[in-house]
Amino acid sequence: MTRTGIGYDIHRMAPGRKLILGGVEIPYELGLLGHSDADVLLHAICDAMLGAAALGDIGQHFPDTDPRYAGISSLLLLEETGRLLAARQFKLVNVDASLILQRPKIANFVPAMRAKIAEALQLDVGQVSVKATTNEELDAMGRGEGCAAFAVATIELAS
Ligand code: MG
Repeated sequence: MTRTGIGYDIHRMAPGRKLILGGVEIPYELGLLGHSDADVLLHAICDAMLGAAALGDIGQHFPDTDPRYAGISSLLLLEETGRLLAARQFKLVNVDASLILQRPKIANFVPAMRAKIAEALQLDVGQVSVKATTNEELDAMGRGEGCAAFAVATIELAS
């Protein structure tokens, strides 16, 4: 039996922060604001994985009030989420995600993001999809004020 989960996250762009998406640092004048490294893409993927397993959400497992998670690489949160699922005999089938941001262009960084995510989750890169779109200059994302991400994860019970 397969199970599916959805994840969504959004973070605000701010000066003086690194822009880290999918575990990859992207050169840009702004970065995402947050307690951890604010990797909106990995947060959405964590939530999709937790959702598929009905294990709550990322805020329950990694509270943003916990100093242990201050500035932490979200790749570590992703790895830990993978371990939470594995401990319950769940195996990931695939992950698909969409990033929504107006600037900067990130197409050249997508292969590196897929590789980082696959490595953290012990998947083949072919099981990890990352896509990106602008918001056609509409709303806050379209004005470049933030970055959002949607993700879907499919899992199955390991046999
Ligand atoms: Mg987040």
